[in-house]
Amino acid sequence: MNTPTRLRLGCIADDFTGATDLANNLVRAGMRVVQSIGVPDTPLAAGVDALVVALKSRTVAAAEAVAQSLAALRWLRAADAQQIYFKICSTFDSTPQGNIGPVAEALMDALGCDFSIATPAFPDNGRTVFKGYLFVGDGLLHESGMRDHPLTPMTDSNLVRVLQAQCRRRVGLIDHRAVAAGAAAVRARIAELRTQGVGIAIVDAVDNDDLLRLAPALQGMALVTAGSGLAIGLPANWGFQPSAQAAALPPPSGLRAIVSGSCSQATHAQVAHFIAGGGAALALDPLRLARDHADTVGEVLAWAEEHLPAQPVLVYSTAEPAAVAATQAQLGALDAGALVEQALAEVARGLVERGVRQLVVAGGETSGAVVQSLGIRQMQIGAQIDPGVPWTHAKSALGPLHLALKSGNFGGVDFFHQAFAQLA
Ligand code: ADP
Repeated sequence: MNTPTRLRLGCIADDFTGATDLANNLVRAGMRVVQSIGVPDTPLAAGVDALVVALKSRTVAAAEAVAQSLAALRWLRAADAQQIYFKICSTFDSTPQGNIGPVAEALMDALGCDFSIATPAFPDNGRTVFKGYLFVGDGLLHESGMRDHPLTPMTDSNLVRVLQAQCRRRVGLIDHRAVAAGAAAVRARIAELRTQGVGIAIVDAVDNDDLLRLAPALQGMALVTAGSGLAIGLPANWGFQPSAQAAALPPPSGLRAIVSGSCSQATHAQVAHFIAGGGAALALDPLRLARDHADTVGEVLAWAEEHLPAQPVLVYSTAEPAAVAATQAQLGALDAGALVEQALAEVARGLVERGVRQLVVAGGETSGAVVQSLGIRQMQIGAQIDPGVPWTHAKSALGPLHLALKSGNFGGVDFFHQAFAQLA
């Protein structure tokens, strides 16, 4: 275990794209941030203010989520992190068994923390909390698409009730009256809740000003549990202010490429826009891949090698729902997904072997596969391209490169061009 740098904020994120979202907000608020895939196994560079450990603990068994989170906590404490931020989904994705409650309580126990708060509020993304109820856009959580989520259906919008079902400690509420009145009123409310035996409080926040007023009241609290929204306010507790320096990355070099395995609507529009603008693009056919994996990947890379020197290339499996359904009917949904992810990860590696050093990846699962195939363990977070998607700089097994990992529905229609233009 290496602990060469003193961290202000140590973050434990329960999934990969959520970790990037949090890191992005911290950078925008002025911190130098590194995201680590799992618990770090290499030393941190000097001058890192916050480390975000990306776990995959949202939907695993609660005991496993607790074990992973405590392993991350041990590393962060050894690195002297002054405050721990447990990053959860802004729609409070969890089941009656957890994992938000069990992980938060295990972290509190380990830290000797007798009072903590939880708030998924992320007003910029339409997630607001009022009287303990979570709203998604203009409606309540349980009326949103989240009620039908395959793994974590959210059928109750009252977060005090939802969290209480997962916790031993008593759960209370710091309501909007206190938050609107400012940090002193929040501190007074915390003192009041403590006397009532409350150990964890949901916090109301309906806009960014609420989060900015809340943050100073959380100074010195060993643990906070939140979506990425709270990150806009916390860095100021250490005197950080938004600065270009926080997002500075080494200058870009090498060739440029995009790999897209996302079939989300936003990605569709981005791929179509890139092709319509005359971009060099090649579609990967999953059925052809199933018949002849090695030849298909080889042909893609040969095509890319020809076009790369002149312009960015796009390799995509992005397809219309009907085409995806037809492929899934033949190969099975899971097998088709794994096959395409594996192939795109090989393509990404092949592209980097051919000199690509600026790589955009579209798709959450696809990003996970690409990062793994490139042997990437840590990423320095740079400037935001579009909300939730920053450029990053990573050391891969094949050398350093710039990487932008875009979860499916993020980004404007011109995202691919915009990403390279911004880096240049
Ligand atoms: P998103 O972030 O848009 O959800 P992901 O990469 O997380 O994107 O998920 C997309 C999934 O669909 C991946 O498992 C990918 O391999 C799979 N996939 C991509 N293209 C196709 C296709 N043409 N047919 C079937 N499955 C596909």
